[in-house]
Amino acid sequence: MGKVNENYLKLPGSYLFSRIGKKIRDYEAANPARSVIRLGIGDVTQPLAPAIIKAMHEAVDEMGRAETFRGYAPDLGYGFLREEIAKKDYQDRGCPIEADEIFVSDGAKSDCGNIQEIFSPDSRIAVCDPVYPVYVDSNAMAGRTGEYDEKAGIWSNVIYMPCMASNHFVPELPREKPDLIYLCNPNNPTGTTLNREQLRVWVDYANRSGAVILYDAAYEAYISTEDVPHSIFEIPGARTCAIEFRSFSKNAGFTGVRLGFTVIPKDLICDGVALHGLWARRHGTKFNGAPYVVQKAAMAVYSDEGRDQLAHQVSVYMRNAKVIYEGLAQAGYEVYGGVDAPYIWLKVPDGMTSWEFFDWLLEGPNVAGTPGSGFGPSGEGYFRLTAFGTYENTVEAMRRIKEQSGDRARRG
Ligand code: PLP
Repeated sequence: MGKVNENYLKLPGSYLFSRIGKKIRDYEAANPARSVIRLGIGDVTQPLAPAIIKAMHEAVDEMGRAETFRGYAPDLGYGFLREEIAKKDYQDRGCPIEADEIFVSDGAKSDCGNIQEIFSPDSRIAVCDPVYPVYVDSNAMAGRTGEYDEKAGIWSNVIYMPCMASNHFVPELPREKPDLIYLCNPNNPTGTTLNREQLRVWVDYANRSGAVILYDAAYEAYISTEDVPHSIFEIPGARTCAIEFRSFSKNAGFTGVRLGFTVIPKDLICDGVALHGLWARRHGTKFNGAPYVVQKAAMAVYSDEGRDQLAHQVSVYMRNAKVIYEGLAQAGYEVYGGVDAPYIWLKVPDGMTSWEFFDWLLEGPNVAGTPGSGFGPSGEGYFRLTAFGTYENTVEAMRRIKEQSGDRARRG
């Protein structure tokens, strides 16, 4: 008789976004005249840029001719793309990363979910709280996180590093010693960042203590502040303690196209073993290469034309972020993030939980967002809105929130 992986049974019930989706659908079914503006899920809305479409068309034509047809792609990515990434994302920024340290994949979610496989089952993980749920859930599936306390919303064997307004959303070095440290910069969900000096503290700590930093830079393209690093490899010493995840989802609108990459320096040794070799083995065994058409499309991301078009797309989202940030501030909310990330993190009114605020926002202004408690216990009392909607919807959402927040305040 087959037996299931019981770790899966310990995972908390329904996934955050399923619960949100159901609430929105139920509300819309009961109130067909109302239109809900969705500023909840972190998915892009602008179409692919012309330079990317052109590259994809050309690649499709190549696939249609016998002389240029390609079958399986190399497991670790085509050389042309790995070279381009190493040069443009790293070497041109002064980061010492070589093409053969880049592993091309189908996206950052797979990589940051799968990376835990190359570490010992008894590794202790540390995560920021609130946090992108994939880091904890993927370790829970592997049996690394202990028992889940439904009421407190925490796992017994995870080191949570609270990131709240009181510490300016900067995690403090943990008292207990982790083996793996997940950092996401710019951060999802808080939209806040670590600057060079703050990140240097973590790199130094990891090198001192022998921990490995798993650094998620999926929102790197949204950074505008000079002092915020685009890569952990801008920090001296990171080559011996860090793995970096990148995605084409948010800088180039590839959420439906799928492409990302992971950087593992050859100098990163854990337990006497080079992690580069282990990940190459894992990737080659379980992944059969990202599609040629998609890797050619990614080349256009680095062309002059593509860069300009994508910078414009990012600026469109960041204009929304500004509208949300300023709109909420004018409505009297405490607001964070939204400067170097497409996420705005707000403090919900006193006396309300994150889910109560979700319900109020859905049923009053008819705007959908994401309750902070869904990202971890320290997210309680906060709420996330995303800048990925259209400009018109974003402006309208803020108009409604401002109008009705005033009403709510007047009613007490
Ligand atoms: N990492 C973070 C922090 C994210 O927020 C997301 C998506 O929302 C991802 C990774 C997933 O990226 P991808 O679309 O490349 O799988």
